Amino acid sequence: MKESEIRPKKLFEEYLYLSKKDAESFDNKSFESINCVSCDSPLAKLKYKKDGFKYNICESCGTLFCNPRPSLETLNTFYKNSASAKFWFEEFLPKVEESRREKIFKKKAIQLFELIDEKKINISNLCDVGAGSGIFIEEMKKIKNDISYFAIEPGEVSSKIIASKGFSVLQKSVEYSKEWSNKFDFVVSLEVLEHVNKPITFVESINSLLKKDGYCLITTLGYEGFDILTLEEDSNSISPPHHLNFLSIKGFELLFKRAGFSEVHVMTPGVLDVDIVLNSGKSTEFLRILKLRGDSVIKEFQEFLIKNKLSSHVWVLAKK
Ligand SMILES: [Zn+2]
Repeated sequence: MKESEIRPKKLFEEYLYLSKKDAESFDNKSFESINCVSCDSPLAKLKYKKDGFKYNICESCGTLFCNPRPSLETLNTFYKNSASAKFWFEEFLPKVEESRREKIFKKKAIQLFELIDEKKINISNLCDVGAGSGIFIEEMKKIKNDISYFAIEPGEVSSKIIASKGFSVLQKSVEYSKEWSNKFDFVVSLEVLEHVNKPITFVESINSLLKKDGYCLITTLGYEGFDILTLEEDSNSISPPHHLNFLSIKGFELLFKRAGFSEVHVMTPGVLDVDIVLNSGKSTEFLRILKLRGDSVIKEFQEFLIKNKLSSHVWVLAKK
């Protein structure tokens, strides 16, 4: 898979432009100072400044997090009304929906059920938290039809689309989804954790949806990946106020344990790090030579990153 297949360059540039404008319009006097989102340590150093936002790195667990950050209320308003969020949901996603279905969701669904088989996890039902328009549950259902699928999705338009596809859906944020406590064998949440104001509350809420011994799979961005470590604040992933949380491998383990999970497995099966860095315009001697060595070396290098937990696309599988 190539970055351009899921993020067409022109469309993505327009989104980044709107996002930067939105970020600069925030009044940072109202921001809230916080401890490390993973381990709760108060010891952190300034790492990056971008578009009026600051990112700190935790001196204890190595997690990168936006601090100080907008309040929950400010963020909710932002996701409802901002130009960049509107563009993302109304222009960007609908245009790339079908290619993302093929390139991302279908593949993730296959990988998910391989993981479930490998770990011998028995499931009769599954809930997708932040399910968007329900593409992932549709793709999962195509692979495994004998379990019940549910969705939690706060967006009004998206949750109506999910319901129209015949799935049970709760139009709420997971933090307010108490009526589905202790209901599920498995909960998935794709690319939500990096956006949330309070990661501990988010992960605890996922934990409480699960039955005893249930599992969750959270996919998100991590800090210790090749593209982010190479491009640093120039990485398009460091995009305030959309992306606030970039946990370290240790940070993921600490956060999920703190939220009540008994087992935590962190993997980084991302495939785009090298492609993103080579397309970024960044030039170092290493990158010049890597490019010259050609596709098979590039592919092997990405496989090395996956194997050694050095991709910035992270999967966390955790048992309650
Ligand atoms: Zn920490």
